[in-house]
Amino acid sequence: MPKKIVVAPRPFRVFTRRDLDRIPQLQRFGNDELLAMKAVANVLPFRVNEYVCDELIDWERVPDDPIFQLTFPQPGMLPPGELDRMIDLLRRDAGDAEIQREARRIQQGLNPHPAGQVELNVPRLDGVPLPGMQHKYRETVLFFPSSGQTCHTYCTYCFRWPQFVGLDELKFAAREADSLVAYLRAHPEVNSVLFTGGDPMVMKTRVLRRYIEPLLAPELDHIVSIRIGTKAPAYWPQRFTTDDDADDLMRLFEEVHAAGRHVAIMAHYSHPRELAPPVAQAAIERVQNAGATVRCQAPLIRRVNDDAQTWADLWKRQIVLGAVPYYMFVERDTGPRQYFEVPLARALDIFTTAYRRVSGLGRTVRGPSMSATPGKVLVDGIAEVHGEKVFVLKFLQARDQTWVNRVFFARYDEQATWLDQLRPAFGEKEWWFQPTIRAMRRQGWQPPWGDRSRVRKRVTNFGHVEWE
Ligand SMILES: *Cc1c(COP(=O)(O)O)cnc(C)c1O
Repeated sequence: MPKKIVVAPRPFRVFTRRDLDRIPQLQRFGNDELLAMKAVANVLPFRVNEYVCDELIDWERVPDDPIFQLTFPQPGMLPPGELDRMIDLLRRDAGDAEIQREARRIQQGLNPHPAGQVELNVPRLDGVPLPGMQHKYRETVLFFPSSGQTCHTYCTYCFRWPQFVGLDELKFAAREADSLVAYLRAHPEVNSVLFTGGDPMVMKTRVLRRYIEPLLAPELDHIVSIRIGTKAPAYWPQRFTTDDDADDLMRLFEEVHAAGRHVAIMAHYSHPRELAPPVAQAAIERVQNAGATVRCQAPLIRRVNDDAQTWADLWKRQIVLGAVPYYMFVERDTGPRQYFEVPLARALDIFTTAYRRVSGLGRTVRGPSMSATPGKVLVDGIAEVHGEKVFVLKFLQARDQTWVNRVFFARYDEQATWLDQLRPAFGEKEWWFQPTIRAMRRQGWQPPWGDRSRVRKRVTNFGHVEWE
């Protein structure tokens, strides 16, 4: 019998930039500190809910507390000159237009569109672009429902920050499931749909249902798994337990299960503390009881979780709860990266030390992994080959699936924090995949998938349909 965790309901209350003065715990800060926070919150997104403030942040330890760093604007997130200019504008009560203009200028300097997020990954159907979708890796389509484009609380390092400050005007968002269904019908090579955002779990169950139910049709039997990328299990576990439509959400997961598909909650857990409250544990238990699994992923972030014991504790708690450690990501090359980034060499060291401290059950995790333009690149180790110290890299995912699982080598570099700062080892002038990436760019990144004449249908021993 699973142990039953009983939790009391709680109303959702949220604070944004204009409510900073109203957050009771912030009273401990002086006016200058609050002003610096407001200055940063004018440039980078800020949104926090009461549960995070009351249950996850240790206010005796601010500003160093990891969840405080994860959710509240920090003065170091802007270059010093920019911070001062912003503070100055606020101090002399400049108008909204002037503040907004200055904020836009600073935002443009923070590499808002890394890895060609906006223009490179939008799929087409009969030549028509389908906004709100991304199809970068053959077997998985990402879907961004328009009503799931916010979060219960924003992470300070969020790589999707431009859409939350209005830079992207929700370019990603899709209004209806119709185009998703049409695209999937034409793409039997896809076997996984990943709902992402924002956070799809900000949607009411009845809205989420409108997107998920059409995927259960028999004609889409090549869809094996439906994934939901979400931070709600950490920031608002009530979504799965006591919210009005939590029960209905469980019924939806059960329906997907009954339709012979798998639901995976891809939970973003940054720190073991997020798994400590009884309600957070109850959320996982309920999801599992509805026939779904919880897989866990997060980036490695300086000041939040850049420590091996933190990751070992995180993975061990996940194992206790039956959740599966999945990815450790490298902080992306956008936004306040200079504040949060960790060199790849150090990331690998933290990963390896933590990995050694868990049993094989925790070694389902892969990392540190960079989601870069050519694919997901794993920093797999350090080696010496013919006297040259190198990083051993490996594609976990790639735009060309023949690259998947391929190992390659970069010159060792203690400071590098991203793929574009690495150089190929052994005197190579460029990466072996570079000519293909150039060709893909020239051709508008159209992948050769989806042409039904190029895939073969096969029925497996289990009666599943497979396309290869
Ligand atoms: C990570 C990612 C996926 C999913 O990759 P998995 O290895 O299957 O988890 C799909 N699309 C994009 C663009 C991604 O970054």
